[in-house]
Amino acid sequence: MRYNIDPRQQAVRDRIKEFAEKEILPVYKELDRAPEKFPVDYYRKLGKAGYIGFAMPKEYGGGGYSNIEYITLIEELAYWDAATALLAAVPELAVYPIIHFATEEQKKKYLPKCATGEMIPSFALTERMAGSDAANQQTIAKIVGNEFVINGEKIFIMHGDACDLAVLFCRIGEEASERPKVSAIIIESNRPGFKGFTLKHKMGMRAATTGRIELKDYRIPISYQLGEIGKGFRYAMATLDGARIGVAAQGVGLCQRALDESISYAKSRIAFGAPIAKLQAIQWMIADMATQLEAARMLTYKAAVLQDKGEKFSLEASQAKLFATEASRFCVDRAMQIHSGYGYIGEFSVIEKLYRDQRVTEIYEGTSEVQRMVIAGNYLR
Ligand SMILES: Cc1cc2nc3c(=O)[nH]c(=O)nc-3n(C[C@H](O)[C@H](O)[C@H](O)COP(=O)(O)OP(=O)(O)OC[C@H]3O[C@@H](n4cnc5c(N)ncnc54)[C@H](O)[C@@H]3O)c2cc1C
Repeated sequence: MRYNIDPRQQAVRDRIKEFAEKEILPVYKELDRAPEKFPVDYYRKLGKAGYIGFAMPKEYGGGGYSNIEYITLIEELAYWDAATALLAAVPELAVYPIIHFATEEQKKKYLPKCATGEMIPSFALTERMAGSDAANQQTIAKIVGNEFVINGEKIFIMHGDACDLAVLFCRIGEEASERPKVSAIIIESNRPGFKGFTLKHKMGMRAATTGRIELKDYRIPISYQLGEIGKGFRYAMATLDGARIGVAAQGVGLCQRALDESISYAKSRIAFGAPIAKLQAIQWMIADMATQLEAARMLTYKAAVLQDKGEKFSLEASQAKLFATEASRFCVDRAMQIHSGYGYIGEFSVIEKLYRDQRVTEIYEGTSEVQRMVIAGNYLR
């Protein structure tokens, strides 16, 4: 029995369980094992079911669901397949700056197609020299007449190999040697000068591909600027605050799956003539996993509720992400120990996949160290 902080969460859980049995369980193993290639048909199926633009505003074709419902969606998808949760989370991350900072014309042009999965959006912030130090953008847009001419490279961009558009963070008109003012531009991938590549040999979350974007003398009218010049870093950080609760929800889903698998395995695996669930060593692992899970869930729901209320939630989002993702590492690790050989070999259980999928949750959308910086900064100022 999952704890719901809001009665609407149960409806989301029931819906996803039904969807998972029909659409996720038959394909997720194949999507995980296939050579890395963005699963367009699967993405469109998720879009058709309403899971791509779930939290996007209704007036632009989205589901209009609250944050608490959205993070429940991500938690439940992650329970069945974390990569599917990521496929659903990336478009919400990518269009957040469009929803909040774009012109009406830009919103009307992109949001309805992104909400249904017809267009694939990316969030292109990270560069080789701008990871945790995200403000250190080297990609540069020069203004030539009424166009931007953009040169640079983005790395680790979710769906960057398949995207139709990206919210690109870069400097506008400034030389590369200065500490830049970051700005945002909406770019489209079908123009000359844009190349997207799939990054190979990713450890987990393999169905949701990660790309590298190369921009060489890429031209786009200056009307594609998003918001105001120099405010891009603020837009990016505001986007990440909300997205971090989504990553926390991925962690919660992974914790729950690791726990459920462990309980059922411990009851059925016989050693020394009895189920291993009778052993105190195993019981303590289950107790610790269950407690980590519940604490992670509460921090995650708290952050989502604050966001729904329109209150400040940046600190709580970082605390939720930090705790829930580290809790998910703890839980999948204990699940591996309980399953032992049958956890390590993917043929026998899902634990090997949970182990691989979990790890990146502590890295993307701000590493655990960055979350600690944010948290400490809030307490020490
Ligand atoms: C699968 C995947 C998907 C991703 N998706 C996207 C995406 O869609 N869009 C996007 O823009 N980016 C994306 N990223 C990028 C991700 O956000 C960065 O990888 C992350 O922010 C860390 O940057 P980095 O890898 O350059 O590590 P670095 O910043 O080089 O960090 C290396 C180590 O140093 C530590 N460190 C750095 N600075 C500090 C500090 N000041 N104090 C303490 N420790 C510090 C870090 O915590 C880390 O342990 C993705 C990454 C991955 C792996």
